[in-house]
Amino acid sequence: MLFPEQTLPLSVEPSTVVAPTGDLFQRRAARLRQLASSSGAAEWLNWLAVLADAQHAAMAGLADAGLALPADFDWQSPLFAGAESGFDAAWADVYDTLRQVGPDLPPSRDAAALLPAARALLAGAATTGQRTLADVVVAAALQVVHTHAAARLILPKGHLPLADRHACPCCGSAPVGAVVLAEQGKGGLRYLECSLCATRWNAVRARCTLCDDPGVVAYFGIEDAFPAVRAEACDHCHGYIKLYFQKDDRQVEPLIDDLASLAIDVLVGEQGYARGAPNPFLLAGEAVDG
Ligand SMILES: [Zn+2]
Ligand SMILES: [Zn+2]
Repeated sequence: MLFPEQTLPLSVEPSTVVAPTGDLFQRRAARLRQLASSSGAAEWLNWLAVLADAQHAAMAGLADAGLALPADFDWQSPLFAGAESGFDAAWADVYDTLRQVGPDLPPSRDAAALLPAARALLAGAATTGQRTLADVVVAAALQVVHTHAAARLILPKGHLPLADRHACPCCGSAPVGAVVLAEQGKGGLRYLECSLCATRWNAVRARCTLCDDPGVVAYFGIEDAFPAVRAEACDHCHGYIKLYFQKDDRQVEPLIDDLASLAIDVLVGEQGYARGAPNPFLLAGEAVDG
C-alpha cells in the first residue's frame, strides 16, 4: 500500500531538539502492556513492560551526572561526546538493578563485555548477529543512564544549527524511528527519536532520513492492523525507517510501536528494502533484512 506524504503548516517555528521527559519509561511500559493485549508477541512485550518499569525505578534513583549544556555549545558534534566513561561507570549499577527482572542474567562484571556491541548497534552499525536477553538488558541500562542525562538538559527552544541530522544531537546514536506530531500548532512536524536517550530532533522533510537523497521515497503500511505506522523507504539507499503518526494514535511510542508492527518490516523487506534503524529490543531473526 502507498500513502502520500503529509503537508506541513508553514507558519510553525519548531524547536530543533526536544529532550525526553522523566516519565518516558512509564509511558513505554504502559504502551507495551496496551499493545501486548492484541499482539502475537504478548509474552515478550509484557516482559519488556516489566523491564521498562525497572528502567523507570532505576532512573529515579540516579544521581545527577552533572552534564549541562554549555552556553556557547555550537551543535557541531554530539553534546555528550567524551562523556562515555562516566556513562559506562553509572551503567554497572543500573544494569545490576535491571537484571533482577531475569531470568538468569549475568552480573555486570560479565555483562560489561557486551557493551561495545550494544553501543555499535545503537550507533546504527550492522544489526546482524545473535542477540540475547543479556544484550537487551545491557542496552536497557545504557538507555537509563543516557535518558537520565538528556532529561535533565534545559535546551533552548526554536532553531538550533545541527551539523548532522542523521544522529542524536545529544548522544550521537541512530534514530529508532520518527514521530509525526499532531499536537496543536505542531501538526505534521516530524521528529526523529534517539534509540538510546530518546531525545527527539526535527527532521528535514522531502528527503531520505537515512541518506539525505532528495529523490522519491515510498510509503508502506498495513492500515487495518497498524493505522498509525508507515515505513518510509528510499529508492536511492534502499533503506527504510518507520514513521509513527500521532494523528492516528496519540499514544505512539516509536521504540515500542516498532516491536509491535514487525509485519510491516516483513512487507517492506519483501519489496527489497533494508531496515535502517536500530532497535535494541529487537531480537535477531524477528525482522526481515532487505
Ligand atoms: Zn541520544
Ligand atoms: Zn536513502
